[in-house]
Amino acid sequence: MSNAAASIDVANYPGVHLPLYMDNHATTQMDPRVLEAMMPYFTGKFGNAASRNHAFGWEAEQAVEQAREQIAKLIGATSKEIIFTSGATESNNLAIKGIAEMYRERGNHIITQVSEHKAILDPCKRLEKNGFRVTYLPVKADGLIDIEDLKRAMDDKTILVSIMFANNEIGVIQPIEEIGKLCHERGVIFHTDAVQAVGKIPVDVQAMNIDVLSLSGHKIYGPKGVGALYVRRRNPRVQINAQIDGGGHERGMRSGTLNVPGIVGLGKACEISGQEMAEESARLTALRDRLKNKLESSLDYVHINGTMEHHLPGNLNMSFVYVEGESLLMGINDIAVSSGSACTSATLEPSYVLKALGLGDDVAHSSIRFGLGRFNTQAEVDYVADKVIDVVLKLRELSPLYEMVKEGIDLSKIEWAAH
Ligand SMILES: *Cc1c(COP(=O)(O)O)cnc(C)c1O
Repeated sequence: MSNAAASIDVANYPGVHLPLYMDNHATTQMDPRVLEAMMPYFTGKFGNAASRNHAFGWEAEQAVEQAREQIAKLIGATSKEIIFTSGATESNNLAIKGIAEMYRERGNHIITQVSEHKAILDPCKRLEKNGFRVTYLPVKADGLIDIEDLKRAMDDKTILVSIMFANNEIGVIQPIEEIGKLCHERGVIFHTDAVQAVGKIPVDVQAMNIDVLSLSGHKIYGPKGVGALYVRRRNPRVQINAQIDGGGHERGMRSGTLNVPGIVGLGKACEISGQEMAEESARLTALRDRLKNKLESSLDYVHINGTMEHHLPGNLNMSFVYVEGESLLMGINDIAVSSGSACTSATLEPSYVLKALGLGDDVAHSSIRFGLGRFNTQAEVDYVADKVIDVVLKLRELSPLYEMVKEGIDLSKIEWAAH
């Protein structure tokens, strides 16, 4: 037995408590400063931002306008270009369907990629049922699209390109500036789902030629159920068909009484992220690399999914080959991470994003997404690394495949009995 097989005791890791959260791409804990900013808008400052004729309304409207400016500032937009929504799923639906409907006269072709979030893929599928043509670009083994593929896919019916800024599973950052430039040269609208990028890495809609951009509160230490859509107002002026009618709020693009406390929280979350981004991304990159180095130095047959060259600071997606995925997750069930399996209905499907990189089902299932965030500590990283190493080593002791590989048997040459 190796040393690491000795039990890992959380008491040896200062300040670490179980269960431990390291799944910050799924959601983030709200920053206490955000909650503090929101509180008055649940109680005394409860006005409706659309009430134009009294002080309660003005107070709420003023808070909403301040949030619009905080968000705009973080992404290089102007406040009039920010539309509030219930989250990025709605922002993506509004962008994809709203642009498709508005520009249908001009063309019916949309380009996206296979590794998008479902909040892009599902609206695209619906549009296909309604007579639109959608090209799903493949990704290379490193997780990035090939710009040449994008060029080839564009034709005179293309009205929209939607490519996510940073991937929520494998953390790769697409060549957004290049895509934006190409879209503008061809007169095609460029939308990006920037949920995982905004507040984490620099995003500038001007420098990057982004026309429409989705973001969400709860991925950046703000509240759940609030998001925004940036819609460019000049060069070009983008128009979007409303998907929710009823009063013409948000310049006619999204009706409904605004979620004032949520919006205030989103604004504050953006302000904090902007101020602390440089420092926070350096800290998370160091923690992420510490985790990666520990795992890589203690375990063989592990590999990283998604290029590390263009990568989110807090993301590490790693496959632990010759380990059964479910047993691995079970072994570390006091640590909240995501696996390479997606629960679609009752079955356990391998992640379509990992499959798109060319991973086999088994390897996809034995993959883990570590999502480091603002509140993770170095002691937590050490605990997670030691625990994962311990569990993987133990599982491999029980793995006949791993035994065979260690003995130098080429698994691909074996004829397995039919099953
Ligand atoms: C979380 C997420 C969404 C969905 O955002 P919600 O605000 O939860 O609706 C969309 N795209 C990406 C990339 C995400 O990570």
